[in-house]
Order: sequence, then C-alpha cells, then structure tokens
Amino acid sequence: MSLEGVESRLLVNGELCEAEAGRLYDNINPATEEVIGNCADASASDADRAIAAARRAFDGTGWATDLAFRKKCLEQLHKALDENREVLRPQIIAEVGAPIGLTYAVQQDTCINDMLWDIEVATNYEWERQLPDSDFFGIKSSKRVVHEPVGVVAAITPWNFPFMLNLSKIVPALMAGNTVVLKPAPDTPWSATFIGKMVAEHTDIPAGVLNILTSQHPAEVGDVLTGDARVDMVSFTGSTAVGKHIAKRGADTVKKVFLELGGKSASILLDDADFSAAIAGAAMGVCTHAGQGCAITTRLLLPRSRYEEGLGVATKAMENMKFGDPLNIENLMGPLINARQRERVLGLIETGKSEGARLLVGGNRPSHLERGFFVEPTLFADVDPDSTIAQEEIFGPVLAVMPFEDDDDAVRIANNSKYGLSGAVSSGSLDRAMAVARRIRTGTMSVNGGMWFGADTPFGGYRQSGTGREHGIEGFREYLETKAIAYPVA
Ligand code: NAD
Repeated sequence: MSLEGVESRLLVNGELCEAEAGRLYDNINPATEEVIGNCADASASDADRAIAAARRAFDGTGWATDLAFRKKCLEQLHKALDENREVLRPQIIAEVGAPIGLTYAVQQDTCINDMLWDIEVATNYEWERQLPDSDFFGIKSSKRVVHEPVGVVAAITPWNFPFMLNLSKIVPALMAGNTVVLKPAPDTPWSATFIGKMVAEHTDIPAGVLNILTSQHPAEVGDVLTGDARVDMVSFTGSTAVGKHIAKRGADTVKKVFLELGGKSASILLDDADFSAAIAGAAMGVCTHAGQGCAITTRLLLPRSRYEEGLGVATKAMENMKFGDPLNIENLMGPLINARQRERVLGLIETGKSEGARLLVGGNRPSHLERGFFVEPTLFADVDPDSTIAQEEIFGPVLAVMPFEDDDDAVRIANNSKYGLSGAVSSGSLDRAMAVARRIRTGTMSVNGGMWFGADTPFGGYRQSGTGREHGIEGFREYLETKAIAYPVA
C-alpha cells in the first residue's frame, strides 16, 4: 500500500503550517521499524498561537451560536474523510501498526460512519427548555435552561486507536459549538494531521475553530494546553498517570477536565458458561491490536470447578492466534507501538514469572519476526489477584488467568482493582450473568458476548479509569455548559 497524501504540517488558525521553530520529527512504522516520513514538531510557542486562534474563533465569530453552519461544516468533513478512506488507511496501518482488518472497523471506518450520528445528536438536541413558572418570596419568574458550548477545548489523545479517538473528541466538541486544539500522541501524528488537511482543503470551518499540534515534546505542549487560562476544558484520553497530572494542572484555572484513562478489566466465566465461545472471545480480545486497548478484558476469571478445562481451551486459543504483518488480513494482532512499550511489556512478563504466575504460552519476542516491536500472545495461569500483572495495565497481549470459588468471590476479585473501565460475564443463565454484571464497578459490561461499543453508547470509567463519558448523548453533554435564565412572568 502506498503512502500518498500524507500531511506533515500543523493546522493553526486555519492554515497548514510548519512548526514555528521549523522542527520536524520522524514517523516510524512499528511493524518494520522503518522511518516512513516525518511531521511538524510543535513547541510551546505553537501551542500559544493555537490557543490564541481557538480563543479568537470562539469569542469573535458566530461559530458558537450557529448550529446550522456547524452541521454543514461537519458534514463537509465527513464527506471528505469518507471519500479519502483509501488514502488514509495505509497511513493508519503504517504509523499505528494496526492490523488492516481493524481499519475496516474501529481504527477507521466505524468512526467515519459514526460522525453522522454525532452530527444528528447535536442537531436534534434540546438546547433550551422552559421550567414551570415559580414564585420565590413574591418574585414570580419564568425560567429557561439553556445549553451552551464550554469554550476552548484542549483535546489530548493516545496512540492506540488514534484516528477514532481524535474524531471521538473533535466531532462532539465542535458540534456543541466549542473551538478545539487537538494534541495527538507523538507516535501517531498522521491520524491527526490528515484531519487537518481535510478541514483546510474541503470544509468551510473558520480559521481557529480546529487547531492541530503534533509534537514529540508532549509535556512541553501539553503543559501549556492544560495550564493556560484561555483554555476552558481539557478532554483527555490516555494513561491514568498523565490523567492525574492533567487534573492537577487544570485545577489551577478550574478547568472542566474530562478523563478517559486506563483499565484492567475482568472477564468472568460462571460455572454454567459456554467455555469455548467465551474463552475464544477473551483470547481474541487480549490479542486485538496486541492488547493495546483500554477496555480489553486482560484478566480471565475461571471457576475452580472447571479451571483446568478452561486453561486448556485458553492455551489452544492463544497458541493458534494469528499475528505478524498488519497488512495480512488474517492477522488480528500486529506490533506494539514502539520499542519502549515492547520493553515495558516484556518487563511485566518477567515480573509475572518472578511473582509466581505459571507461564503457559508466549512470553517472548517472536523468533520468526526479526523486525518490528512484536511480543508473542502470552498466557499466565495461577495469577495472584493482588500481584503486579493482575493489578497493572500491561497494554500488551498478556492474559492473566485466576480461579474463583463462587459468584461472590468472582465479583470480589473483579472489583479488586484501582480501575473500573469495562468487563464481561458469561453464564448459561442471562439472569445470573446480569446479576453479576450489575455488581461490577465499571462503566461498561458485556454479558454473554454482547457488544456495548457504539456511537450511541456512553463509554468511560469508574474509579481511576476516569471521569465523564465519551460517545452517546452523555458524551455530547460533556462539551456543554448549562445556564439558567429567569425573567418576570408575563
Ligand atoms: P499517555 O498518557 O502516555 O499519553 C496520552 C496523551 O497524553 C498523548 O497525547 C501524550 O503525548 C500526552 N501527554 C503526555 N504528557 C503530557 C502532559 N504533561 N500534558 C499533557 N499531555 C501529555 O498514554 P498513551 O501511552 O499514549 O496511551 C495508552 C494509555 O491510554 C493507556 O493507559 C490506555 O488505557 C489509555 N487509553 C484509555 C482509553 C479510554 O477511553 N479510557 C482509550 C485509549 C487509551
């Protein structure tokens, strides 16, 4: 697949432009370790002019108040992305190491399709509502509740599903009437700059409404965005560690801070579950995109009474997992994003072994793949629920299996986590599975293989997995302020 139509420039104040200091940095294909191109390397001064442009566009244009115009602009962006899917696809595969099959789903196509849902939600939203007249110590008032955009939004995204996460923030934020500065992850710049190119070349989106800053200095640029008083809101997806840092920085200027963070989700198989389907699902889940997904169920909880049977099924599933070249449609799993992540994952595998877990499958770099940041599908049994690999987010293809005694014990182990993002439960009885699902402290749950992901479905975390929700009407509301206006009864 050829890399044509790559955009390496920033988008600031309506113009595709170099970084002020003229710096560029390399973009590396994680499957081949080759330099595939480059990208503008923004610094604090670029962040400053992007914020200034976003502020001017919010305060000085009709963007915030003209819903019909916003709809027209976002439909133009949808059309441009829709027509350029095959230009973008090779770029996403090359810079993310994303298996091509996933680009026909959540890595690319699903989220382009989902833009239309977001546009409709905003268009049909109840922006104002009238309350019943009131009498407060003789002051008779009519009251209206009005929803308005928050203002300038800094959107900060990670590298695992970069294009999807960029759109998941940009589209509702813009449709709500905000202006945006997007800072994508350093490893996946083109998944953002391509959007900038489409905006500049195919839409009437006014200058400053959307700004895009790629940089290999995330702390430098990020700290400007999260500390500047001209930014009203930070919408962040990434690690819990950086999320905490952002929440603290945002506190100084009392920003609205929306956080989608890490996860360590559990898949529970009750003793009457269909093991072959549920374990195949768990193995596929943890290997999808090499385990680089926040909501993947990375802990597998099996009933003691069927523990060895379950381990046998899981071993086969992990041993037979197809992985390697992301361009091969049969591969569910490509490489990790960079050498640092690979070393981190391999280090956690060593920790698992040293803490007494039983390694059943994988655990190494694959011997048949000389280049690329690959790690084998890896399966651990007898994992202590308090151990490091049961508690820490690994972000690699590593499944940790642990036994439980009964339903209460399964719930206790699943909830034994600082995270609370997602989870799954399987049982021959829907009622029994639903009862367990309600007791798990997470933002989403799959019951008997049900799929919660979708444009209309709120997604987000309890506890240290975050605050707020992305997608769904709840996700759109994150980008709104609420104002109450009272006036004398006529
Ligand atoms: P990360 O936290 O290292 O980086 C996320 C983003 O924050 C990147 O754009 C990065 O450049 C930026 N950043 C780094 N330092 C910053 C600073 N000081 N100020 C502002 N921004 C800064 O995360 P990652 O390694 O890119 O992604 C993996 C993590 O993301 C995992 O923990 C995963 O669970 C999480 N994630 C969560 C969700 C979700 O919806 N809950 C979705 C995808 C990924």
